[in-house]
Amino acid sequence: MKKIPVSILGATGSVGQKFIQLLSNHPYFVIESLVASERSAGKKFGDAVNWILPVPLPSEIASLVIKKTQETLSSKILFSGLDSSIAGEVEEFYANKGHIIISNSKNHRFDEFVPLLIPEVNHEHLELIRYQNYGGGAIITNPNCSTIGLAMSLKPIIDNFGLSDVNVVTMQALSGAGYPGVSSLDILDNVIPFISGEEEKLETEPKKIFGKYSEGKIEFSDLRISAQCNRVAVMDGHLETVQVKLKNNVCHGDIIEVWKNFSGLPQKLNLPSAPKQPIYYFTEDNFPQPRIHRNIENGMAVSIGRLRKCNIFDFKFSILSHNTVRGAAGGSILCAELLLEKEYMNAF
Ligand code: NAP
Repeated sequence: MKKIPVSILGATGSVGQKFIQLLSNHPYFVIESLVASERSAGKKFGDAVNWILPVPLPSEIASLVIKKTQETLSSKILFSGLDSSIAGEVEEFYANKGHIIISNSKNHRFDEFVPLLIPEVNHEHLELIRYQNYGGGAIITNPNCSTIGLAMSLKPIIDNFGLSDVNVVTMQALSGAGYPGVSSLDILDNVIPFISGEEEKLETEPKKIFGKYSEGKIEFSDLRISAQCNRVAVMDGHLETVQVKLKNNVCHGDIIEVWKNFSGLPQKLNLPSAPKQPIYYFTEDNFPQPRIHRNIENGMAVSIGRLRKCNIFDFKFSILSHNTVRGAAGGSILCAELLLEKEYMNAF
């Protein structure tokens, strides 16, 4: 198969760098152009970037000259890791030029015809892009990095037992704050009990993700969610403690069973970035942990543990997912793989 050229918007950032790592040697895609701010544009990528990943920067990428936003790009697919201060208008600009944008920013997540997509959870929402009016282009969004892990853990529960209420407390990694992110003097020996805008995202995004799709419309789920978000001194991997109230009586073993057996369309289609097993359940009392479990299935799986009875809700448990892989670049690449396999590209 001839590889499809793609470009990365916000290529120098935390998410942009992860895109570069994951797209090197990808079986479907090859990186054509890199875009970043005026600070970086015109420079060779290797000179402009502060490469923070523990793998070498590929030489063919280091020598690419960074483009400005709104410069002409020839690849149809653009992956976006742009800062949200600029992402809204830039993504719309390129969609209007006929590009398909897969975005990690919050700006378009609640637009009426924009899917908030997790391929294992709500692939049918992709149909929404047929109703977009960008003259040949489209915008698809990846949910917030904490929402993705949470929604994957809830999907089998919702499908099998029904779910009414969720309380979630997050402990979110530093790479989630972008580069250079939180100052070391703020986070070392510390936990910060606030991440701007994050609780609102966790409380609202699952309602769209679990909404029912019919003929260009999503009827939002009535799931009730309360979220509290904390920044902790971990490099990668968001840990979340979750309490759930179910609609039906079930026992502990039933929930573990549906997690272990959970599989979706990406697994059926054998997409290159799809984890073979999307959810891993651990029986050890002290699992999951960011340092130990974030890279399972190349960072694309969600790890769960500590399922037990809750005195207030029905059950409580802990989940862990990699924020820049499953929660951003890896999740977006999986969306693009699905787009190709489902032949949506031909619709544009
Ligand atoms: P980041 O490290 O701060 O990177 C931001 C990128 O945007 C950089 O490439 C930067 O380029 C570019 N940029 C900033 N201002 C710009 C401007 N005015 N014009 C053009 N480009 C501009 O942020 P990040 O963590 O990668 O996050 C990127 C987006 O993904 C954000 O919307 C974030 O909320 C979302 N997200 C992040 C994560 C995560 O785990 N980090 C997970 C899910 C979603 P320069 O280097 O040239 O300034």
